[in-house]
Amino acid sequence: MNTLVLDPTQDPDQDLQMTNQPREVVGTHFLYRIDNDGLCWMTFDSPNSTVNVWSTESLTELASHLEHLSHETALRGFIFRSAKERIFIAGADLKSMRNLPSSGLQKLVWLGQATFDRLARLPVPKVALIRGACAGGGYELTLACDYRIAIEDDCTRIGLPETQLGLLPGWGGCTRLPRLIGTRRALDVILKGRLMDARNALRQGLVTHLVPAGHAEDTARKLLKQPVPSAPHHWDRSPLVTPFLRWAARRKVEGATRSLYEAPLRAIDVVTAAASHSVEFGLQLERDALNHLLMGSQAQHLIDLFFQREAASKHRPAIGVAMPVHNAAVVGAGVMGAGIAQALAARGLSVLMTDVAPEALAHGIERVRDLTDTAVRKHAIDRKTARDTLDRVSTSCTPVPLTHKQIVIEAATENMALKKKIFADLAARSAADTILATNTSALSVAELAATVPHPERVIGMHFFNPVHRMPLVEIVRLPETSPDVLATAIAFVQKLGKVPVVVQDSPGFVVNRILMPYLLEAVRLVEEGVPVERTDNAMLDFGMPMGPLRLLDEIGIDVANHVYHTLREAFSDRLPALKTLDTLLAAGHLGKKSGQGFYLHTKAETKAKVFSATANPLDADSIQLRLSLVLSNEAALCLHEGIASSAGDIDLAMVLGTGYAPFRGGPLQHLDSIGRDYARSELHRLAHSMPAPNPFTPAP
Ligand code: NAD
Repeated sequence: MNTLVLDPTQDPDQDLQMTNQPREVVGTHFLYRIDNDGLCWMTFDSPNSTVNVWSTESLTELASHLEHLSHETALRGFIFRSAKERIFIAGADLKSMRNLPSSGLQKLVWLGQATFDRLARLPVPKVALIRGACAGGGYELTLACDYRIAIEDDCTRIGLPETQLGLLPGWGGCTRLPRLIGTRRALDVILKGRLMDARNALRQGLVTHLVPAGHAEDTARKLLKQPVPSAPHHWDRSPLVTPFLRWAARRKVEGATRSLYEAPLRAIDVVTAAASHSVEFGLQLERDALNHLLMGSQAQHLIDLFFQREAASKHRPAIGVAMPVHNAAVVGAGVMGAGIAQALAARGLSVLMTDVAPEALAHGIERVRDLTDTAVRKHAIDRKTARDTLDRVSTSCTPVPLTHKQIVIEAATENMALKKKIFADLAARSAADTILATNTSALSVAELAATVPHPERVIGMHFFNPVHRMPLVEIVRLPETSPDVLATAIAFVQKLGKVPVVVQDSPGFVVNRILMPYLLEAVRLVEEGVPVERTDNAMLDFGMPMGPLRLLDEIGIDVANHVYHTLREAFSDRLPALKTLDTLLAAGHLGKKSGQGFYLHTKAETKAKVFSATANPLDADSIQLRLSLVLSNEAALCLHEGIASSAGDIDLAMVLGTGYAPFRGGPLQHLDSIGRDYARSELHRLAHSMPAPNPFTPAP
């Protein structure tokens, strides 16, 4: 076999005249071999990396190989594969893209399209062998092939997640996917932006075949010997149909996002126009739209959050050794305890769930079962996995030894005296190195640690409700928490598939600390006569998933009041005393659970209540400014006080813990977007116009 090292200075026609011998060409990111049958096996293997991504370099190199191959007269077929174990192609190299000037980004958009177009035009049948993550530009490469063979493996995940990052598939995805699966289904895949497993990808038509690893190459060889079937006909690519699909899709997205997100709307326009026009026209639309989105702030913020999340999900502290955790206990089988127990069991841990009340324990286990059944119904897990999950949960109403548990998570009623008693009891029944974690929302973790011998094993682990859906866990570290315990807690949370953010032990930690002044300010607006609906709508238009007053009803006025009092002890100079909360509590109007709070909740409807005979005319912009500044100012104070170690951590915690408008990047990013000087002057203005105490004194 001849081996050739690719040298761009050499004349391709001279080097690569077809011989009958198999040959191998070794580049930087790719190597390929042309076998005796004239089949080219192109392997993507970026150097010194566990992943393959598209960068200017890797795309340029592939384009050059394809140019050479287009002169190979005896070429019979082309197979594209990856040498990486768990990655086919992860997509575009977002990290290097962040440093490109706008001209560089435009060039990259063009280069991706041109390279994949060159592949599409290679006049032989082409197959992509997909194993591992095949996302975004990775999948768009396969769309330029005639066959997509997915290899059965848990790590195979396929899809186009661009709209989740404020972008759209601009390397042929918007244009070629409707040709493959039809316009309606292409819109669905692109707008959801989810990666799917191989089986689902086959069901959706994203791949043409699904085979075990050992059969992939044979399947490819067989397919390459057959004539390529003609492209499927999809009635919904007709120009008579696409305007209706566009209208319906826009209506749905505008309703769900209040038209706040640009990328999905642009994607709808491009997909529906590209579906009924030429590929060239579609690619032009993709380029224009993608270049526009790449220049906007939404994509930048969403990509920043993506990196922050990735970093938190993989974070390893500099010191401390993470111990593997297999065996855990959860104390308290209420809403949180049951949710945590289910999350642990679903990830393969044995869990003992305890409670003092037998009926609470029965409810708790019922809830674990419900959550597991729902996962089966949604095809997230199969029945055997569900059975195994349930088998891993045991229960007890009486004190049992906990010496073999590596971690115990306390999720009992929010009451310091009770939790202290529980901690003292846990210390007596566990081993000296059993990690004792508390799920408290706002109580002092240090006070709990003071009740046990070996306080270095105490840590806060603040999960959010509902546990199965909320990805964030605040890890509360004390000065005395040992590095090994911290490292173990972080790795443990990551093993659960959740995102850990390390915070200091301060009332409300990060999320509740920042959220509470915002909720109180919304209540103050009610007291000033601003209609409930206007306040909530203003914040929905800001991008929050739920208005603050509706959120208070969901949390429960009693629960919120409890957190408020804990915080008020520490921050009485900023948190106002508001009579509306007391009035609601006294009337038993606890929010949704009692049928009313700021809203009336009936089976038929949820209707805002009227709290003032004359409506304050304060407009939506002023409401947004006032409430968003409370969030940003409190976030800045948390950063100043070192409650979290970086602005990125605080922004990530607020987005994952409260749904803070992701396209704004988080409350601290928002401060930069509107300008710190402007924010400071507005905060001063509000601080002086409002009765004290108020939360508007600007953070240093
Ligand atoms: P819950 O009232 O639903 O459940 C608390 C459970 O603790 C009850 O079943 C109760 O019987 C049990 N319990 C009381 N004393 C006990 C003891 N000595 N030993 C064992 N069990 C005991 O409360 P929840 O909403 O699940 O909250 C639990 C903890 O999680 C609290 O600290 C709360 O602040 C925190 N938290 C709650 C939420 C939320 O939204 N509900 C979110 C984050 C954190």
